[in-house]
Amino acid sequence: MNSPSIYRGRFAPSPTGPLHFGSLVAAVASYLEARSRDGEWLVRIEDIDPARETPGSSKEILSTLEALGMEWNSKVVYQSRRNKAYQDALSLLEQRDLIYSCVCSRKEIADSSITGIEGPIYPGTCRGSPLHEANCSAWRIRTDNNLIEFSDALRGRVRQRLESDVGDFVLRRADGIFSYQLAVVVDDAQQGITHVVRGEDLLNSTTRQIYLQQLLGYRTPAYMHLPVVVNARGEKLSKQTHAAPVDTSDALLQLITAMRFLGQTPPAELIEGNVASFWKWAIKNWKPETIPLKNVTLSPVARKF
Ligand code: GLU
Repeated sequence: MNSPSIYRGRFAPSPTGPLHFGSLVAAVASYLEARSRDGEWLVRIEDIDPARETPGSSKEILSTLEALGMEWNSKVVYQSRRNKAYQDALSLLEQRDLIYSCVCSRKEIADSSITGIEGPIYPGTCRGSPLHEANCSAWRIRTDNNLIEFSDALRGRVRQRLESDVGDFVLRRADGIFSYQLAVVVDDAQQGITHVVRGEDLLNSTTRQIYLQQLLGYRTPAYMHLPVVVNARGEKLSKQTHAAPVDTSDALLQLITAMRFLGQTPPAELIEGNVASFWKWAIKNWKPETIPLKNVTLSPVARKF
């Protein structure tokens, strides 16, 4: 495992399509948090689920980051190549009897009468039953009701009790795909990530990740959850909401716009410089304390500088 004595941040896009403005904001904030503290910044492609991937978008995302003048410190990590690491972590949890196989259908779970922070909670039907045929069942982690809490750099104290707020969650799906929660925890630990900066939509996942870190003996990084960029209908920018790709023919304007979304005040003359002079200014003048807490709407007017 890498030494956590330095600041090491990361940007971890899912290659479901080209980089859009919402992901750019997360990339820029994680980059500036790292660089303004003389830290390292890594890129990890979260291509764990081939069904959600758009062919060619990993490459496209990386070349967009390059065109924006963002430099990463070591080789890009691809989750699709790390199944062994995830399986090793799962086996460790299995040896300690912390996980169980589950054959319940989506419908059975949706019918659960218990509701948590993200909808119906798995009622634990398979918790006490004998192991099912492991290769056609999902694997769930046993949760408990101990308080898990952390202090988010922007949102302050967050507290959850996993058993009643979330329920036993899936670490490996019945089709063999490892879950985001397991993969992200294993990767952040093995890459020695000390600080996670990402969208607020993942705030509620963090306690699940901390629980897994504790069980696997990993360190918990510091967290900062950013406001999410939404469209005029209030929907998070994503492939599903048809977010437009970042236009690298106007890299400087995109970067300056991202900074304004992050509550920063780039001076007007920055637009006359280049990407290198932008980063020089941005690293020196980065003020995380002025990042807004509310989600920010992207409208055509807001994008004009
Ligand atoms: N891959 C996730 C996304 O694109 C981000 C995961 C993370 O930063 O933990 O939304």
